[in-house]
Amino acid sequence: MKHVVLQSIVFIEPGGVNEPTLTNTAASFVPQLIPVTRSAKMRHGDSRYSGEYGLAGGDRVFGSGGGFSRGTIETIWMDMDQTTFDGLVGRDNATVWHPYGAIGSGTPVFPVMSASGVRLKMADGRTLIDGMASWWCMVHGYNHPVLNKAIDDQLHEMAHVMFGGLTHPPAIQLAERLVEITPTGLDLVFFADSGSVSVEVALKMAIQYWSSIGRPAKRRFVSLRNGYHGDTLHAMSVCDPVTGMHTLFNDVLPQQWFVPAPAAGVEGPADPEDVAALEAMFAQHADEVAALILEPVVQGAGGMRFYSPDYLRAARELCDRYEVLLIADEIATGFGRSGRLFACEHAGIAPDILCLGKALTGGYLTMAATLTTRAIGAAISKGDPGVFMHGPTFMANPLACAVSLASIELLMASDWQGNVSRIERGLRSGLSDCSQMPHVVDVRIRGAIGVVELSHPVDMQGVQPMFVEQGVWVRPFGKLVYLMPPYVIDDADLAVLTAAVSAVIRRLVVDDGYCVPRA
Ligand code: PMP
Repeated sequence: MKHVVLQSIVFIEPGGVNEPTLTNTAASFVPQLIPVTRSAKMRHGDSRYSGEYGLAGGDRVFGSGGGFSRGTIETIWMDMDQTTFDGLVGRDNATVWHPYGAIGSGTPVFPVMSASGVRLKMADGRTLIDGMASWWCMVHGYNHPVLNKAIDDQLHEMAHVMFGGLTHPPAIQLAERLVEITPTGLDLVFFADSGSVSVEVALKMAIQYWSSIGRPAKRRFVSLRNGYHGDTLHAMSVCDPVTGMHTLFNDVLPQQWFVPAPAAGVEGPADPEDVAALEAMFAQHADEVAALILEPVVQGAGGMRFYSPDYLRAARELCDRYEVLLIADEIATGFGRSGRLFACEHAGIAPDILCLGKALTGGYLTMAATLTTRAIGAAISKGDPGVFMHGPTFMANPLACAVSLASIELLMASDWQGNVSRIERGLRSGLSDCSQMPHVVDVRIRGAIGVVELSHPVDMQGVQPMFVEQGVWVRPFGKLVYLMPPYVIDDADLAVLTAAVSAVIRRLVVDDGYCVPRA
């Protein structure tokens, strides 16, 4: 059977009056098989038009919707195994799920072939400046010789070995280094596969701790509104039920308790009402609460909000007073992003359990870590069943440990703090004009994170290609357009990023509840 990609479409007016025009060069829907007699949604370039088309077999398709209802559509088919930009897009659309993705939606994906420093090299030859650090993690930039070498060296020793009953130098060294650089008292390290799994591990640790010391009723969690902690089921239960993107699953998730998100703004004291709400929650439920989980100072995927370190200090005190453990999720903030190595340092506090991920490996491999105190570790180990009940296959993968160690050394040897402050200044000046634009609700900067909040969600199909046209990789979500580039970005590239954000936002209008490109 021949697999094909619909690479482009030529619309011909009935009667052949007009010359055929090429209207769509990216395969936005993929009839995989010939013959086909099914309909598919499609889009035309950047416009928001979409229509239903019945596919009639062979290489001819008959339009039956929208502006082309009376036209005949002729298709150009290409072999699936070719590796052009459009070919890759088509093959991807046919088979591959993307994060929070839909099959057949026509949402654009952009094939990238290699990356170096802060630049992504696309399959069509374009080069994009990366404004996302691949979702917070690629702090040193792509294809870094030191990180490449660390993996290469380790590869020739061993790529992987089980961690049950065995150990290895990269894991030991990394654990020791993490204990050294994280807030005082976190002396034990449990390696996990991803951020979400490290949150699962943290929640299980908290439950098992209380159970081990004879208080098994303490097995529920308090979390902050607008919080985000991952996509696995128990991690989802502590995400904001509305902004956490998990509403669909609410009735199957364990029910947790939520307190208001701390008032926005990093300067000044916490809002006393926020602290009072947390205290009221503990006063009522502490006997059943294993832990409070929060993202210190910077709330990420649940709204990209910043709050006062004073609230974090108050939360620490309340946790102590009401015998509730404090879990700090620093998966996004860890390793300098907020301006301190760990965001807990803004408040001078140490959590009982700390989750790290993302930038831990310098963005090279998936690995995370859950750190805790010796007291919690000892209690779990003495209680029933006398072991901590978790043990993933790829725990402490040697390649991931080796590259993490190299990444931490690279970070510590660099002027990361100077770089983050420099990026903060660049974001502040580069994004300042956005605050005057219609549909912009707020512009906020913290460390190497710059956020422009819009009045309405972004139409991704329309807006994502606009950034690519500007030569940058920026991926908005919901109402948020944000930048968090690799720390190694220079001022000129940062200026290109901020200028692109301004230029794109300037061209948006609100239509049908979305921020869309002006026609
Ligand atoms: N916690 C926070 C604060 C995060 O930002 C994320 C990822 N966006 C996670 C947990 C989940 O991490 P992962 O995607 O690696 O599972």
